[in-house]
Amino acid sequence: MKDYLGPLRAKLLQLAETAAKAGELQVLERDPEPAGLAQTMGERARAAGVAVLANSQMERVYSAILRIERGTYGFCATCGEEIPDARLSALPEAERCIECEEDLERVHARVGRVTPITEGRR
Ligand SMILES: [Zn+2]
Repeated sequence: MKDYLGPLRAKLLQLAETAAKAGELQVLERDPEPAGLAQTMGERARAAGVAVLANSQMERVYSAILRIERGTYGFCATCGEEIPDARLSALPEAERCIECEEDLERVHARVGRVTPITEGRR
């Protein structure tokens, strides 16, 4: 198997930087002018979204690094089959083979339709 530790570490650093920058954006301009408030709120919300996304990606990358250390890296967490190099090259933190990942996404999509978050609220 190819060495994925280098790319994973680089990705982790890059994500940490992204999350830190987004964190800074969220605390900038504590007392904006009323006219700029809406825009600032929008920017903060976007920054918060970026930070959340970067953090969840960091978790996945970090757990991939742990799997390398434990020697379980490169095997699908669901079916146990080897994940193809082509997939790991594109997505080094991949935890499942494409088939299992797609199965999982189908399940999530189904669950999402049965219990929409916006419904049932008053
Ligand atoms: Zn699988």
